[in-house]
Amino acid sequence: MNHESLIELRDVSKSFGATRAVEGVSLSIERGAICVLLGASGCGKTTVLRLIAGLETPDSGEIWLKGERVAAQGVWQPPEARRVGMVFQDYALFPHMSVHQNVAFALAALDGKLSRAERDGRVRRMLELVGLADRAERFPHQLSGGEQQRVALARALAPEPSVVLLDEPFSNLDAALRRTMREEVRRILRAANATAIFVTHDQEEALSLADTVVIMRAGKVQQVGAPQEVYLRPISREVAAFLGEANFIEGVAEGEVARCALGELPLALPMQGKVALMIRPEALRVTADPKGAAEVVAIRFFGHDQLLRLRFPDSTELEVRTWGNAELALGEHVAVGVRGSVMPYAP
Ligand code: ATP
Repeated sequence: MNHESLIELRDVSKSFGATRAVEGVSLSIERGAICVLLGASGCGKTTVLRLIAGLETPDSGEIWLKGERVAAQGVWQPPEARRVGMVFQDYALFPHMSVHQNVAFALAALDGKLSRAERDGRVRRMLELVGLADRAERFPHQLSGGEQQRVALARALAPEPSVVLLDEPFSNLDAALRRTMREEVRRILRAANATAIFVTHDQEEALSLADTVVIMRAGKVQQVGAPQEVYLRPISREVAAFLGEANFIEGVAEGEVARCALGELPLALPMQGKVALMIRPEALRVTADPKGAAEVVAIRFFGHDQLLRLRFPDSTELEVRTWGNAELALGEHVAVGVRGSVMPYAP
């Protein structure tokens, strides 16, 4: 992979009146990478996309695209000159144009370069890619929400832009289609060597789609890293809890290990003194054991797996995810083991 950074934000801030939507955000995204901005509603994700696209002007800081400064003090490149592909939540298809015409419209700017046959060919390929080849002559109102969303994707990708920005592009699809589309879009972006930024508030989507996850909160970047890195070594307790289910138990760290209700556990980072240890429910392993210290006090069954609540004699409680068929009953005693290392935080 080429390590050139294709999109760069340097200390970018943007307020709307008294609302600080984006505060001191610095980001660097390599060519060909898929980056996902993840955060709760209102944390500034969409504003970051709009700043990159040129739909908002930053109050301060610089934005660089493909090695060119496109927004800074006294510098401004308008959206049409930035040539980024965009897919927004509300698709914004032209109602009076067929599916084919909607996608072809995105190629209008390339008119000089593409013959009519090449243009039609590319539209057909894009529609095949999103599984809508048989809907080409329909109008948007004759499509389901999911189908409209796929047309919007086809339209954004048709000009083969080097930067594609996607704001919750799968939010109106059902769970199964969402998963297929994620895989599909990832494949298309990779094939086009496009650099993409997705916005989502869905943790699973972010972790499964991204090369790099950017976790935002209240306008600021909290952590940037590979999905495994941010999930297994979150920078703070807040980030840990935001990314998935997390147990926090008290312990005492001594360098590489910590002592706690579960015995001595290896640490992901060396620490000393009192700590809160973060343990994901799926990192725990339980076996029925009448002499085990923990008791099963609740069971929530989900089919593919189940969540057990365990209580220790010192009243420490833990949630454990196990195979849905594990034969454990309420009141039963269990022995508990931990897979891998645990993350320590200041208590
Ligand atoms: P969501 O996931 O709900 O779309 P988000 O993380 O994308 O949220 P933004 O849309 O970037 O968040 O909004 C960040 C903050 O800026 C919010 O408090 C929002 O109300 C405010 N905001 C965004 N755009 C404007 C605007 N044009 N005028 C005033 N306030 C705005």
